[in-house]
Amino acid sequence: MPIVEPSLVTVKREEKLELDGIDVSGDWNTFLEPRVHTDLDLKIVDWVRSQPQGETISRCWQCGTCTAGCCMHTDYGLEEFNPRYFIYLAQIGYEEELRKYAQTIWRCVSCNKCVERCPKGVKVEEVVHTIGTYLEVSGGAPESPADRFDRAYTENLLARGVLDEAALFRTYERLEGRKTPARDLLRLGFTMLLSGRLHTGPFAHRTRGWRRMRPVLTKILEEEERARRARVEAPASRARGGSPGRAP
Ligand code: SF4
Ligand code: SF4
Repeated sequence: MPIVEPSLVTVKREEKLELDGIDVSGDWNTFLEPRVHTDLDLKIVDWVRSQPQGETISRCWQCGTCTAGCCMHTDYGLEEFNPRYFIYLAQIGYEEELRKYAQTIWRCVSCNKCVERCPKGVKVEEVVHTIGTYLEVSGGAPESPADRFDRAYTENLLARGVLDEAALFRTYERLEGRKTPARDLLRLGFTMLLSGRLHTGPFAHRTRGWRRMRPVLTKILEEEERARRARVEAPASRARGGSPGRAP
């Protein structure tokens, strides 16, 4: 991690220093002040290690062979996809930085070249996916457009039991904070209506008995969310000897 805080660096400046007739004036004896990291938390690596697919993370010695051969990093030129760096951030517990890659990390195509090449036997592909799962289930990853679409879709489906394409579109636009020009909307709506793919207003489908069904589905979704959170909380607590149920 680069040192970005100048106050942590002390420099002894020699304004006029000559050794054997050579002027060596300048900055000498540069030291870093001792510092305490408050933004590092090993619960990530504890959790990843506690998962069957993540237990080899501790073997990594940061040689970079996986990244050098990774097709996403090299062949597809996605420089920010860097399995070695993901593992490093998880190992030191730098969650804030790792979260910047919460979407990118899923770009892995599971080619397993990294696994073949790793000299330490790290199951890189599985470890990378496990880190991605942690970021997802711990719930602090920045919401992507795909996440927002999921949310709009779920809201829309729960409301009536079937999709209302126009309402879905409006909700998604609201969540994205954008507004499609009326002329484009009309053109899109008309095309969908003609092709029989617009079910809104008088053309909307109805789901019989949805009023009774909706609370059931809502409860299932809430339970799923609780289970997702428990997947992070319970193993990490066990790995560190903490009490179950501690927030991630
Ligand atoms: S090749 Fe293996 S040991 Fe080297 S950085 Fe990647 S995971 Fe770590
Ligand atoms: S499995 Fe994923 S991380 Fe490994 S080389 Fe392939 S794309 Fe890269």
